[in-house]
Amino acid sequence: MISILGIPYDASSSFMRGPAKAPACIREALQSASSNLSIENGTTFDDPISIEDLGDLDLLDFESAQSMRDGITQAIAAIVKKGHQTLVLGGDHSISFPVIRAHAQAYPDLHIVQFDAHPDLYDHLDGDRYSHACPFARLLEAYPHVGLTQIGIRTMNAHCQSQADRFGVRFFEMKDLPAPSALDIQGPVYLSIDLDVLDPAFAPGVSHYEPGGLSVRELLTFVHSIKNQIVGADVVELNPNRDRDSQTAMVAAKLVKELAGQMIANPF
Ligand code: MN
Ligand code: MN
Repeated sequence: MISILGIPYDASSSFMRGPAKAPACIREALQSASSNLSIENGTTFDDPISIEDLGDLDLLDFESAQSMRDGITQAIAAIVKKGHQTLVLGGDHSISFPVIRAHAQAYPDLHIVQFDAHPDLYDHLDGDRYSHACPFARLLEAYPHVGLTQIGIRTMNAHCQSQADRFGVRFFEMKDLPAPSALDIQGPVYLSIDLDVLDPAFAPGVSHYEPGGLSVRELLTFVHSIKNQIVGADVVELNPNRDRDSQTAMVAAKLVKELAGQMIANPF
């Protein structure tokens, strides 16, 4: 069973706000009469035996950013405890730290596959250790047993390179793609998709434009190639304020459907 949870949070974005509006836009795109709920592997997104939508986490319940992160981890841990796979609709990428933390606590051999233009390995950005530029640094320093493979990077700098070395991160930069078709990843996998991994031509509704990215089909080919058990996934950084005619919301909805199909095919 896949449990879908929206996390409408964007206060840890470094450049512009907007992703707090994303979960509603992704759900609207999923329900758009312009498409249907079929998934390319023959499953469907509206199968109540396979998928439940828990709605959005109510962030007004939390008094501070730290209590919110703890609340996110508790909400995800409760889903994990039921033996469900989690599919999170972000939100900016900072939410992936408290979300994946729940999986890291449950699965000692967890491996994260992150699709992103950015390594998100900063020790801090502008003094904020929980910025959307930092989630994977926080995860790997707290859970050194967790593996991380990054795909689509095109903003590597000296600091993030040293962080990648320190944490043993394997990364495939855009300039070096195509990556080996079989990534040779062991253990259960968590997939984190930052929509800015895509070329802005395919996904203009993001805060950070980094030209020279993946096409939607190239990203889908990576997702479809994952044969490990999948414990969870997220789609983050949709910024509806920057979108055009819901083009990127439809891409996010497509990715949510295909992630769900891949999770149904590779249950934990
Ligand atoms: Mn990014
Ligand atoms: Mn990111």
